[in-house]
Amino acid sequence: MPPSPTGSLCTQCGLCCDGTLFGRVELLLADDADGLKAQGFRIVAGSKPRFAQPCPALSQDCTCRIYAQRPQQCRAFDCALLLRVQSGETGVEAAERLIRRTRKQSARVRQLLEALGDRSTALPLSQRFSRLRRRLETEAEGDRKGSEERWELFAELTLAVHELQRQLRQEFYP
Ligand code: SF4
Ligand code: SF4
Repeated sequence: MPPSPTGSLCTQCGLCCDGTLFGRVELLLADDADGLKAQGFRIVAGSKPRFAQPCPALSQDCTCRIYAQRPQQCRAFDCALLLRVQSGETGVEAAERLIRRTRKQSARVRQLLEALGDRSTALPLSQRFSRLRRRLETEAEGDRKGSEERWELFAELTLAVHELQRQLRQEFYP
């Protein structure tokens, strides 16, 4: 059987595992929460046990280190782009271009977060952005002067986040 083109797309992407599309993975009864804990996952208990993204099992090469034991939610998820490629509506090269563009936008958001002092790389992007906004607003209450440059950078970040969300909505969310 030839290698699946959609499998090669995922190993160029990783956006559904790295905290760009989602903030967490919820576990179901069929999932081995203890096994995941033993592998270093921080499982948050509750009616819906979960772990946060970026996922610790995501490798640099965008493969999943626990592929055979990955949670049900991961097994069930195919993004809209993948489905369009599977149906023949979108070609593989066009999909690769979209993935490259969105990964670049995600990297731009991370770069701007870092430039504004956010180093919480273990959190999903949406949470990093919200926390940073709250922090800047709190700081601004005490220091209205001298923060103009930071607000300009924050405005740039806000635009970058909106553009990223637009691309995710248009191409990736099912
Ligand atoms: S977002 Fe889509 S293409 Fe990217 S890794 Fe996830 S399923 Fe694969
Ligand atoms: S367990 Fe694997 S498939 Fe699931 S989020 Fe983590 S890296 Fe992605």
